Amino acid sequence: MKIVKTVQEVRDIVNEWRKEGLTVGLVPTMGYLHEGHQSLIAKSVAQNDRTVVSIFLNPIQFGPTEDLESYPRDPERDAKLCEDTGADLIFRPDVSDMYYDDFCTFVDMDIITKNLCGKSRPTHFRGVCTVVLKLFNIVKPDRAYFGQKDAQQLAVIKRMVRDFNIDIEIVGCPIVREADGLAKSSRNTYLNPDERKAALVLSRSLKKGMDVIKTGETNSKKIIAAITEVINTEPLAKIDYVSVVDAVTMQDVEAIKNDVLVAIAVKIGKTRLIDNFSFSV
Ligand code: AMP
Repeated sequence: MKIVKTVQEVRDIVNEWRKEGLTVGLVPTMGYLHEGHQSLIAKSVAQNDRTVVSIFLNPIQFGPTEDLESYPRDPERDAKLCEDTGADLIFRPDVSDMYYDDFCTFVDMDIITKNLCGKSRPTHFRGVCTVVLKLFNIVKPDRAYFGQKDAQQLAVIKRMVRDFNIDIEIVGCPIVREADGLAKSSRNTYLNPDERKAALVLSRSLKKGMDVIKTGETNSKKIIAAITEVINTEPLAKIDYVSVVDAVTMQDVEAIKNDVLVAIAVKIGKTRLIDNFSFSV
């Protein structure tokens, strides 16, 4: 496995692979890798001849008061996880390798980015789309892998690919959880022991939501109320949103029909965590 920093190095290596007729998978990440990321890498390794993992803490997807500076980093452990999982190349650029000082072109998506996380993080998806489009243009993969953990991000990327006619297959991968149900996240490392216990309220509340749906309830308000009630039992938890949305447009729905996403964002202390499940009628 190779680790490179510059766009040109990636292009040279991928061009060689292309000459040999090899297929390429891309797994975009922000580093501090865990089993969630690893599942994406493993899927790419299984489906492609070569796998590129990008590790880039993308400043433009963080708001001014967010955790860019404190975001956990461990490049050596990341490299070992990638190598052990069968990745062929890590692309680990510096900010200056990705953004010229006078960089001024951004991807702005309407509608899908406005609800859920987009409400409290208004510039987030602009940063995500912009960096992912750049990574697509740099690596030119056949397939790219994204986790259902960030369900709105997955929907946004699928829409960007459709709207811009990008010839890359987007592969969604299921949420990987800790044994006790907490969705794995690099941000879990911020939680102190009390908060770590409190964070279980996310998966527990979603289980309640799923149970309510399974009894035949289709009214979104009632499903949201059931989830909210569980979260409110946890004193350390503060709800950002509890929503039932259309799985493609990310717009609120009054009742469950077709494919929906039940998504929550909850602050545990200072740490904002997200979780979700999909449901098809
Ligand atoms: P991040 O490094 O947080 O930007 O995540 C990089 C990719 O890994 C994104 O596509 C995430 O959705 C995915 N990912 C993060 N956590 C998980 C998880 N617990 N299960 C599945 N995929 C995940």
